[in-house]
Amino acid sequence: MKPKSNIVHLPVYQPGKPIEEVKRELGLSHVIKLASNENPFGCSPRAKEAIVRELDNSSLYPDGASMELRQALADHLNVEPDQLIFGAGSDEIILMLARAYLVPGDETIMATHTFPQYKHNAEIEGAVCIEVPLKDGVHDLEGMLSKVTDKTKIVWICNPNNPTGTIVSHEQVADFMKRVPEHVLVVLDEAYCEYVDDASYPDAFSLLKQYRNLISLRTFSKIYGLASLRVGYGIGHPDVIHTINQVREPFNTSRYGQSAALAAIGDQEFINQCKQQNEQGIRYITEQLERLKCAYYPAYGNFIMINTYRPAQDMFDSLMRKGIIVRSGQSLGFPTSIRVTVGSQEQNEAFINALETAL
Ligand code: PMP
Repeated sequence: MKPKSNIVHLPVYQPGKPIEEVKRELGLSHVIKLASNENPFGCSPRAKEAIVRELDNSSLYPDGASMELRQALADHLNVEPDQLIFGAGSDEIILMLARAYLVPGDETIMATHTFPQYKHNAEIEGAVCIEVPLKDGVHDLEGMLSKVTDKTKIVWICNPNNPTGTIVSHEQVADFMKRVPEHVLVVLDEAYCEYVDDASYPDAFSLLKQYRNLISLRTFSKIYGLASLRVGYGIGHPDVIHTINQVREPFNTSRYGQSAALAAIGDQEFINQCKQQNEQGIRYITEQLERLKCAYYPAYGNFIMINTYRPAQDMFDSLMRKGIIVRSGQSLGFPTSIRVTVGSQEQNEAFINALETAL
């Protein structure tokens, strides 16, 4: 039994250590996880109630097409219902895009340091990944455009970029769309878009009206605080959505996920509060980083890439011993940096105190 030759070298995904495991291993009673860009305030109480209500229907398969959620989200975003596709997290939409559009030998373009699932799924399909270095932590769209050939099928733009937290502007993406050939599908991964408060941030909806070869990916895992329920979505031209639907598993989102997402959309006050708290958190952390003489990329999402000028793994270990789990920049391509999720004010203060003693 031999697996496909293009997957033999692929690493198995290594999740960060769960809080309980770190507590047990290090004998700590209090551990804070700022490693996976989760919402420190959880989800809307309305979403919790919806999950409990849905328990009565546990024996029934979910609606594979997510009709109720689809209509509510279409109304909320002011798009047509057939412009939406749902996945088990946006992770699954990335998988479905690779499955639907890439065959061995196709080329696909992404930044060198970006969300790893683009490359991972493209390689599973046997596509050739062309990686374009970031410029000062930001996507180099000109550089990416220069790599487009007749064989290019998908270009992935992560905005804000994970792990750097930086953004490209509406002007840059609009210019890119104008110049990229129509045979190329452009994937704009906007998993953190609800956190962004910057006038230059792309208006994906106006671009979607102009270009059929564009899809925006979003998720209920981040600001909506529903990461465990696995609901992400794509917004695109109905033809693109139809293609993705052809490779979708029949029941890829759960009843709990659909009901919770539906209820969560109805509580935008919760989302606004989370956004405000996140902005305060970024302000607090970056002020402290200036004081501590650490460098950082401008953060537009709910995480900050911080250069502590110390080996990333050493800093990761020291913070872990103090009960703070962050992401080491080592495996992300930033050997003297750590990526830290913005937490509650109390968590942010605990992180800064731990960082100060570790420096
Ligand atoms: N895109 C980006 C940029 C992400 O950071 C993440 C989560 N880490 C995802 C997509 C996938 O998120 P989910 O599958 O939970 O929607």
